[in-house]
Amino acid sequence: MNQPKKRKSLIAMKFGGTSVGSAERMQGVAEIIADQARHNQLVVVTSAMAGVTDKLLRAASAASDGAGEDWRELGRELTQQHRQVAEQLLPAAEQSTVLLQLDEQLQHFENLCSGFSLVREVTPRALDALSSIGEVLAATLLAALLRARGVAAETVDAIALIVTDDNFGDATPFFDETRTRTRQCLLPLLDRGTLPVVTGFRAATRDGLATTLGRGGSDYSATLVGTALDAEEIWIWTDVDGVMTADPRSVPAAHILPEISYREALEFSFFGAKVLHPKAIQPVMKKKIPLWIKNTFNRSCPGTKICESAVREKPGVRAITSVCQASLFTVSGKEVVRFAQLAAKVFHSLDLEEVATLMVTQSSADNVLSFAIHEEDALRVRRRLEKTFELELLHGYLEPIEILSSVGIAVVIGENMKGTPGIAGRLFSALGRRGVNVIAIAQGSSELSISFAVKSSDVTEALQILHAEFQP
Ligand code: ADP
Ligand code: ASP
Ligand code: MG
Repeated sequence: MNQPKKRKSLIAMKFGGTSVGSAERMQGVAEIIADQARHNQLVVVTSAMAGVTDKLLRAASAASDGAGEDWRELGRELTQQHRQVAEQLLPAAEQSTVLLQLDEQLQHFENLCSGFSLVREVTPRALDALSSIGEVLAATLLAALLRARGVAAETVDAIALIVTDDNFGDATPFFDETRTRTRQCLLPLLDRGTLPVVTGFRAATRDGLATTLGRGGSDYSATLVGTALDAEEIWIWTDVDGVMTADPRSVPAAHILPEISYREALEFSFFGAKVLHPKAIQPVMKKKIPLWIKNTFNRSCPGTKICESAVREKPGVRAITSVCQASLFTVSGKEVVRFAQLAAKVFHSLDLEEVATLMVTQSSADNVLSFAIHEEDALRVRRRLEKTFELELLHGYLEPIEILSSVGIAVVIGENMKGTPGIAGRLFSALGRRGVNVIAIAQGSSELSISFAVKSSDVTEALQILHAEFQP
């Protein structure tokens, strides 16, 4: 008797910029996908080819300020880069259609940049339409490459799938609407055996205006799409073997972690580990979908599994990370100001500016509150605080707001540091022995991480000292 055919598992896979960075690399990616498609049902999400998003952003500023680079030249480079892949890798039959599709996008680039140069301005809304063109170009090429290998693949613009607010440049998705639209659009394709190749980074408002999910946002696109489809697993293919105990560019001794928990990954990516976009964990964590980080250039390495409760070899510190460019603000009130009121006003201001806080320390007896934020947000926050505390500053109830720039925040992370005594002591002794000065310290009561501020120029040394001390 015939056994009922087992339904294949659905895997969502995302490929980063370096993985699709050249004709040769795209070919390698197509091979990975074609190979996996024999065992699993797949949805693919792709980033733009390496360097393309930066080039698009440079073209926008060149067009709008009329100085510096020539945006038309950048357009020619983009055209050549993408056409070359098509001409090199696609059979003649597929080539002409794909070249037309590429030209259409490049015409869109030209129209937008001409507009920017005419009005000498670029709005956040127009910038999102331009900066995410790279993902459309890459998805068009990748789907064509797969078809050339006999895989029924189709490009899908994520504008039709991911619904967000209109915070252009860093839009927030509406999960329920995204789930509905993604399922409506992709399930019929999957049911008829088509492999969707979705543009990462890009999304749209309810009115269909293009938005983006923030730099590095294709990871988030993949977890949004994968979660909406209830995928069995989500695989993020990148250029390192997995999540490592520290950024391998700063700490050569860093090594791969076979498993980490969602909470550790959240902490890790929030504090600068570029390997994963900080928001990408959120959707999978809720649904407990395993997320894998794998290396396109080392396929035999299993990678890192990010899941609910990770197997760990030893207690204590799991990994060390850092944000290199931060600013440390100190707000000090005189006795007449209540600390809770001071803190409430500070955090309300940060909320209004939608700024992420990296670290907070307080000394309520002295009415002093210090907090660290990304350096790029410092000017906005300073202006906001000076406005909020205008009267207090005028009457001298508040000291002038102190801002220390070029600060780095280093963070040691480990879910089971909790209950392991002596970690903070070892950490500060190790730094002290080597003469690294700690400017501020914070440890959350969850004991998942200990953060401290040092000068930006001391960050790499601090990471190396702690990696050697804890040997995670
Ligand atoms: P992609 O283009 O594939 O999205 P990214 O450049 O965004 O890749 O992220 C991968 C990079 O993240 C790695 O090349 C590595 O240098 C960096 N990175 C930072 N911290 C870590 C870490 N702890 N583990 C692994 N990679 C890290
Ligand atoms: N291409 C976009 C960027 O460079 C998104 C991504 O790569 O994830 O930020
Ligand atoms: Mg990335």
